[in-house]
Amino acid sequence: MNFREEQYLLLPGPTPVPTNVLRSMAKPMINHRGPEFKELIAEVTEGVKKVYKTKNEVVIFPAAGTGAMEAAVVNFISPGDKVLAVSIGVFGDRFAKIAEEFGAEVEKIDFPWGQAADPEVIRERIAQDRLREIKAVVVTHNETSTGVVNDIKSIREAVGDHPALFIVDAVSGLGAMNLETDKWNLDVVVSGSQKAFMIPPGLAFLAISPRALRVAKNCSNRRYYWDINSALKYLEKGQTPYTPALSLFYGLREALEMMEKEGIDNIIARHAVYRDMVRAGVKAMGLKLLADDRVASSSLTSVIAPEGLGANRIRRRLLERFNVVIAGGQQKLDDVIFRIGHLGNVLYLDLLAVLAALEMVLVELGVDIELGRGVTKAQEILMQKGV
Ligand SMILES: *Cc1c(COP(=O)(O)O)cnc(C)c1O
Repeated sequence: MNFREEQYLLLPGPTPVPTNVLRSMAKPMINHRGPEFKELIAEVTEGVKKVYKTKNEVVIFPAAGTGAMEAAVVNFISPGDKVLAVSIGVFGDRFAKIAEEFGAEVEKIDFPWGQAADPEVIRERIAQDRLREIKAVVVTHNETSTGVVNDIKSIREAVGDHPALFIVDAVSGLGAMNLETDKWNLDVVVSGSQKAFMIPPGLAFLAISPRALRVAKNCSNRRYYWDINSALKYLEKGQTPYTPALSLFYGLREALEMMEKEGIDNIIARHAVYRDMVRAGVKAMGLKLLADDRVASSSLTSVIAPEGLGANRIRRRLLERFNVVIAGGQQKLDDVIFRIGHLGNVLYLDLLAVLAALEMVLVELGVDIELGRGVTKAQEILMQKGV
């Protein structure tokens, strides 16, 4: 055995938590209705807004990202509302399913897995809606199941001045790739703690435009825990309606400080280097990528397993031999692809190590590749664009 306790955790969530963030969470509890928390929630809410590039209201729930997706449905979509759900994979499907569960009349526009949504298709569908019956458009920023990023700006422009609310799942994209909540006029944007925010799972965020706030006032869907009207009323007093995840708030404050220091646009540039390193490295090994360069995510890279070799066998061996953790494919992509997560607190050298481990594992499994090809290519990219 030649392992540290800490794994090479290259998942698209949860992502590695920096040591200083871990330490910051080991603090005593405070009164969540006292002055210290009032200061804390004000500070982290402002910090999260900077990552969102927004002046809109931001609400923080103790939840997995899916909780915020549900909140984005029950506060802004009423039973019977027509919803246009754009899906390019598992998470797009999930958003559509949640809307359906809460009584929306969902029309799905599906694009093949591995591709991005075509804004022109959405433009055409919106143009047909002369009676303006569509009440919301829901779309995924970064589709984590395939490693494809949607062109949210163009899709928003395609919806134009149609009054439908524009609701975005940016759980795995925000803080890793550019997303301009205000400039692009995004009404509701959902995110979560365990991806680019570098803290453990358990916090979910929603940024809410003034227009969406007005819709929420009249929304007839059932909700209690997820009610943003109540959350915002308490936020004015520096509180949350129910007990907040205090330790995660400490971690969030620390992580936001790191993000502020580095600068959000530098963080985005760093993630683009991750993407370019991993893609070039994997290609140099002779493996195929699921997504095209034009639509490739900076948060993760989906790799098609070599012919006749299951993706999960490669993953298992990476774990057993080198303590490297990467993600598998979901649903119909299970055992077909593996996904290398590279968002948040990832080091360039971690990526070189993982590419080196991958090459060794592939050789051990009988794939005809030359050791070092992928690593060399990634090193070249890193020296050109990174460090
Ligand atoms: C991770 C993720 C979510 C939320 O997942 P949870 O397991 O509920 O935290 C939602 N959407 C996308 C695109 C994600 O990557």
